[in-house]
Amino acid sequence: MNPTPSESQPIETQVLDGLALANEIRAELGESVAKLVAEGHRAPCLAVILVGDDPASRSYIKGKQRACARIGMDSVEHMLPASTSQDELLELIAQLNADDAVDGILVQLPLPASISPAAVAEAVDPAKDADALHPTTSGRLLAGTADLISCTPLGIMAVLDHYEIPLEGANAVVIGRSNIVGKPVSLLLQQRNATVSMCHSRTRDLADVCRQADILVAAAGQPRMVKGDWIKPGAAVIDVGVSEVDGKLVGDVDFEAAQGRAALITPSRRGVGPMTITMLLRNTLLAYRTRKGL
Ligand code: NDP
Repeated sequence: MNPTPSESQPIETQVLDGLALANEIRAELGESVAKLVAEGHRAPCLAVILVGDDPASRSYIKGKQRACARIGMDSVEHMLPASTSQDELLELIAQLNADDAVDGILVQLPLPASISPAAVAEAVDPAKDADALHPTTSGRLLAGTADLISCTPLGIMAVLDHYEIPLEGANAVVIGRSNIVGKPVSLLLQQRNATVSMCHSRTRDLADVCRQADILVAAAGQPRMVKGDWIKPGAAVIDVGVSEVDGKLVGDVDFEAAQGRAALITPSRRGVGPMTITMLLRNTLLAYRTRKGL
């Protein structure tokens, strides 16, 4: 990336094609799977669990299974009714933990209100924790020893690396502190020697904090909350948020206003989403290799 331009210099904003980058990485993962199968091993297998019939969740699950199939990875789905109790779900997870033919387990969120996401995360065997939500997995990330890492944060880091965004010494601002995006991506950026501010709904003067960001990761789930003048000229902007407004998917960043200010921006479609799925495939393959010693 070029040195930070001044306010007066025009900036050509590069829009990331997350799907193209995801496909590049998936092709490599597919080659690894094909090699394992050619050597006589079975294909890795991801088990996906959906509780309830939320159409968006169903569509996410189908997308993940299609992505598995395209790289030669197996997947099994468990569609449970919304009336499923927490004990019934934990029993299914215990069965999948014990099933040697299953390498990764993903429980699609959100869950019905009667089921605790924390209890579900803790029930998944850390060795099969494809979504990287088990406290053991998070603890390893904190310690800097994690192999399995949350999919969206890992996808964000892959984007930054692909575009050769300098991280060392950079000011990184992350909006959001969830266990699934904000916290892990803040840790990963810090491990790569960025100086990280992790912001949230009580952060004072958020716009001013964002204006200091060489790298801005927006993961609040608030449509278009990041205005053009919150963006430091030349910044790399990763828009994780996905919200539906008037039937259209929009991100946390005012995409149009970011043009001419950000050096790089991920769009809300074909941006971080395909990278998240790709890292789920990566984690499942890694969990398989680690368990099987391959
Ligand atoms: P959560 O709702 O769990 O967390 C949102 C975070 O944003 C919280 O820490 C919250 O602060 C903070 N926040 C909310 N409003 C504001 C505000 N006005 N100003 C500053 N901070 C705010 O969401 P997730 O982390 O699960 O997801 C975030 C977004 O990313 C969602 O839109 C989600 O759909 C999307 N997403 C996209 C993925 C993809 O692959 N593209 C994958 C995962 C998520 P506080 O803690 O104080 O409440």
